[in-house]
Amino acid sequence: MSSETAIAQVANYIRESRATVAFTGAGISTPSGIPDFRSPTSGLWENVNPMAVASLFGFRQNPRAFYDWVFPLAQKTLAAQPNAAHLALARLEIVAHLIAVITQNIDMLHQRAGSSQVYELHGHFREATCTHCFTTYPGLPLLEQFLTDSKVPRCPRCGGVIKPNVILYGEQLPLQVLRAAQDVARRADLMVIIGSSLEVAPASDIPIIATRSGAKLVIINLEPTDFDQRADVVIHEDAAVVLPEILHYLESTP
Ligand code: NAD
Repeated sequence: MSSETAIAQVANYIRESRATVAFTGAGISTPSGIPDFRSPTSGLWENVNPMAVASLFGFRQNPRAFYDWVFPLAQKTLAAQPNAAHLALARLEIVAHLIAVITQNIDMLHQRAGSSQVYELHGHFREATCTHCFTTYPGLPLLEQFLTDSKVPRCPRCGGVIKPNVILYGEQLPLQVLRAAQDVARRADLMVIIGSSLEVAPASDIPIIATRSGAKLVIINLEPTDFDQRADVVIHEDAAVVLPEILHYLESTP
């Protein structure tokens, strides 16, 4: 299928859909300057053992290693702006029946683009929690402070190490968010996957829930995924180019 045909096909699916759900991953935010985890040149996992730095166990053993690793991601996240793909999804809430965005991202760019129904499966940087006394704090001032002084944030109450409310390996997904995301996936008649390798479970079960409930599946991702075979349309191009084209087709054709 040519790229133009695929774009028209997806636009028509969205036009006919009564309940479209977007499922997004780190790839939707690379055009905003935030590297993903698995693209060959992203560098986030280079020279790093994910289980050592980005697992709950690793964090408890050595929070400094986690904070050193997360530094460039936090820096780029705080500097990032929503891109054309985030903005197109927000617009699809208004001009079509996009009922929700389920995201694995922690960067908060969907909300900043204007999406109102966002399910953050892997948490976010807005809040942080003391790992000792469990007091919660606004996350962004803590991150800004950390980017200035590079010190591991400590709880003013008890001195415990503070962890951003992002989900690490070995940590439960927020149950209420997961359940709500599974519910909207069941209601979807169209799921559009954008910028995800679909290699992180249980998040990657969400598209399976949608297709089992009868939803059509569209994948917009630079690299092939293991789900490509199951999809009705696959587009291996930049989401920040393709999504505005789909939106334009939808808005300019009867
Ligand atoms: P991933 O890194 O495993 O996969 C990203 C996919 O996006 C790749 O297959 C890549 O080909 C594709 N991609 C990259 N740029 C793209 C573009 N412009 N257009 C279309 N596709 C593009 O990401 P994942 O599946 O989300 O899983 C990784 C985990 O990393 C998630 O748990 C997520 O929480 C976390 N993460 C989040 C951020 C963020 O919040 N922005 C950034 C890095 C990692």
